[in-house]
Amino acid sequence: MAEAAAVDLGLRWQPGLQALGSDFYTPLSPDPIRDPYWIARSAAMARELGLRDVWWQAPGVLEALSGSAFIQGSTPLATVYSGHQFGVWAGQLGDGRALWLGEVATPGGPQELQLKGSGLTPYSRMGDGRAVLRSSIREFLCSEAMHGLGIATTRALCVTGSDQPVRRETIETAAVVTRVAPSFIRFGHFEHFSHGNQPGPLRTLADYVIDRDYPACRDAANPYAALLAEVVRRTAAMVAQWQAVGFMHGVMNTDNMSILGLTIDYGPFQFMDAYDPRHICNHSDHAGRYSYENQPGVAHWNLFALGQALLPLIGEVDDAMAALHGFKPQFDAELARLHAAKLGQASATPSSRALAGEWLGLMARERTDFTIAWRRLAQHIAGAPADTVQDLFHDRAAIDQLLLQLKELTAQSGLAPDANLALNHSPAFVLRNYLAEQAIALAKQKDFSMIQDLLAVLERPYDEHPQHAAWAGFPPDWADQIQISCSS
Ligand code: AMP
Ligand code: MG
Ligand code: MG
Repeated sequence: MAEAAAVDLGLRWQPGLQALGSDFYTPLSPDPIRDPYWIARSAAMARELGLRDVWWQAPGVLEALSGSAFIQGSTPLATVYSGHQFGVWAGQLGDGRALWLGEVATPGGPQELQLKGSGLTPYSRMGDGRAVLRSSIREFLCSEAMHGLGIATTRALCVTGSDQPVRRETIETAAVVTRVAPSFIRFGHFEHFSHGNQPGPLRTLADYVIDRDYPACRDAANPYAALLAEVVRRTAAMVAQWQAVGFMHGVMNTDNMSILGLTIDYGPFQFMDAYDPRHICNHSDHAGRYSYENQPGVAHWNLFALGQALLPLIGEVDDAMAALHGFKPQFDAELARLHAAKLGQASATPSSRALAGEWLGLMARERTDFTIAWRRLAQHIAGAPADTVQDLFHDRAAIDQLLLQLKELTAQSGLAPDANLALNHSPAFVLRNYLAEQAIALAKQKDFSMIQDLLAVLERPYDEHPQHAAWAGFPPDWADQIQISCSS
């Protein structure tokens, strides 16, 4: 790709992780894809990057964000990382189909841009460097949906597609997602240099992350232990938020864990339909390692892997352990706070914890729809009659007892429940698998309208959107037959 054809996206590029040096990445250009076309764009993301409304209409932008034209100011490179996959050391992985474009200055701080699905890299191993249309639409929509829910996540600016064939179980077509995040550094980046016995680069990486993203840790007695403690805290908060809205990541390998505590690498994720704490959303996860109820424990396990990787810098095992021991109490306190908020309470109490536990127990026994049950409870807290909640359950005595406890909870706290708090913690809309499947089916016919309509709703998931009320309803019967695997 010639510099002469460089496309100006209108972004303010600035130096970023190029400064780490060649141990960390390989500079390379994306592989052009054939005749790209637009699939979807996030206007909200564009605004946050400081782009103008019509940014995407400028000549060459479509090609540039499909990997088919050079972007002025970008320094494309693929980074190297390793990781534990399904609990087993997997050795070197790396950006096998992602290309880091560079760092840009935005009104809200530095953001990095990445293309995902832009072709082969030195880290592609057996893969083709591509991403297929269905998984790219899922990643685009879920990134923005999680942001709308208020959950820390990588973002997505746009998706482009091509009729270029990509072989998976069947022949599919290619797509490229432009991802945006303050940093794409993963636990696996640290594991790579630690397991590879490269203490110099390990320290360089940790110092880079501390100085750039965790500056307060620099003043701690042990900055590397302080870094671990902060990552523990952010990861615990992130997973508590997942649990509170019924989100399952599906592939919580250490290479899919962000050093900033962002939800990253959307693959076989799912929002819970009928509540089953043991639900496994990834069809390739035969043992259920990444089931809903296992997510907190797996996050903790992954943090141990990070702690192990940082140990040469931390020095004392006890210092690493002290940081890691923060996980459980922080996770429990954060989830209890979120459950209390869903019950309209500003903070958790023993009674709010007990009530949330019994409510979830009843939902699990009856396989009640997770999102609908919590939303109707929030609406009841906001004054709606009890029958819409009661109607969800067969065990009338049990639900009546729970609703009585809810009244007592309010009486005890002496304050009226905060209806807005409840409604703003139990979304009306989540990206259910069946909705994504419908949007994908239409996109395969070149109708991209449902993606954009879903985006508009999922950006504000706590609001009612009367024109799309059906999307807040029960999933169709075929929804529980959908099988989403690691294939993407
Ligand atoms: P994932 O399971 O998607 O998190 O990917 C695990 C590793 O496999 C990462 O290093 C990815 O970059 C790489 N990978 C996944 N799919 C492909 C592909 N189609 N081509 C090249 N590398 C891939
Ligand atoms: Mg990954
Ligand atoms: Mg991936």
